[in-house]
Amino acid sequence: MTRKYSRQREEILYYLSTRKDHPTADNIYAAVRGKLPNISLGTVYRNLTLLADRGEILRLHFADGVDRFDYDTTPHSHFICKNCGRVTDIPIYSSDTIMDAVRNQFDGQIEGQITYFYGTCSDCLKKNKTQEKGE
Ligand SMILES: [Zn+2]
Ligand SMILES: [Zn+2]
Repeated sequence: MTRKYSRQREEILYYLSTRKDHPTADNIYAAVRGKLPNISLGTVYRNLTLLADRGEILRLHFADGVDRFDYDTTPHSHFICKNCGRVTDIPIYSSDTIMDAVRNQFDGQIEGQITYFYGTCSDCLKKNKTQEKGE
């Protein structure tokens, strides 16, 4: 790895550390490009994959097929809004009991678990209510 690559990774990691909204690779690319004009989306993606493989960041998979990234690697759950696509942290992680139950039923090696909640976020709920009133 050359210096250039680690500089890119630092910028990606730094940007992610300032965000709480679980940006996509496209979001991160758009932001980091301001500082590193020569960076490509492919490079951003490669660095994100590497950081996620090393466990330095979390890669989140959702039903919409777009991966999002999280600087916070402590166990927590996520909520995705079906309306606006916003991903919010939920500081609850119930994995231990579920993990134990699943391990008892399964012969293979389980390395992790991805759970997310979905529905309508509070902002979208408010918006829907205002719209209903207006009609
Ligand atoms: Zn929403
Ligand atoms: Zn999160």
